[in-house]
Amino acid sequence: MEMNDRDKVIEKLEANLQEAAEKNPHSRTVLEAFGPLMIERHRLLSTLDWKGIDPSGIDRDKLKAGVPVIRQVPLFFPEDPWKEVVLPTIAAARQGFPQLHEGLDAWEACVASGAVPFHDYFHSCPPPDETLPASWDCVRDIPAGLTKLILMSAARTVLEMRSAAATVLRDAEWDKGYCPFCGSFAGIARINDKITQRWLHCLHCGRDWRFNRIRCPYCEHESPQEMNYFFLEGKTVESAFTCEECKRYLVTLYRISDLNDPDLDVAALSLIHLDLIMQQKGYQPLDPSGWLCIE
Ligand SMILES: [Zn+2]
Ligand SMILES: [Zn+2]
Repeated sequence: MEMNDRDKVIEKLEANLQEAAEKNPHSRTVLEAFGPLMIERHRLLSTLDWKGIDPSGIDRDKLKAGVPVIRQVPLFFPEDPWKEVVLPTIAAARQGFPQLHEGLDAWEACVASGAVPFHDYFHSCPPPDETLPASWDCVRDIPAGLTKLILMSAARTVLEMRSAAATVLRDAEWDKGYCPFCGSFAGIARINDKITQRWLHCLHCGRDWRFNRIRCPYCEHESPQEMNYFFLEGKTVESAFTCEECKRYLVTLYRISDLNDPDLDVAALSLIHLDLIMQQKGYQPLDPSGWLCIE
């Protein structure tokens, strides 16, 4: 990417974050905390040049049957230079989360000393209890929430880099509510106005894919009577899709103008209050674990 293009992408992101904070003042703190991590990810994505996944190992019939790329070929390699991503990620986290400086110092020292064998963790799916591998002693005493923040932010950068390069998915058939690349359930969706297509967005690798508008992306139940959209009072775009069959919800930008190309990562952060409301109403998100795998 040319320097100018890169600057433009980051400028646009900064403007999006600013605008989202003005429109949703209650999410300003969240946007300001995560903003530097998002900006750093965009910077890294324009410069990283790691090797891609092996497209010859991906079977189109398996994709059609709902087996994501993560279940077909390795997405991470032993020689991946994680330091290149994790150290700048920690630096960005310092801006957004200054109160966590002690833990961030400890994380940075572990990474800099080479004592965190990232591949041990990323080559397999983390177990549901989020236990760190035995070889990760260096970061074991750091608060789990901070460790999760660092790992998820770094993994998003690496997965997005590899997902964006996975051209095999461009014309593949895919009909699931979880991501064709990394297998995580969608974190947010958008419905375009005139053509009324629903697009799901993965918060773990940044991929978008089209999905049936009346089917539940979680349980695949199809019943217009049991699928609803909840809107906050006075809002016409910010909504949550709900399924009465499985009691899941998915935050959705509803009937946005076809000319509009919203940043769904920014939208997901700025609509966190909608998540709280839906969970108070007894619904669960599609992707509750926030980790990379589906079982
Ligand atoms: Zn994904
Ligand atoms: Zn459902």
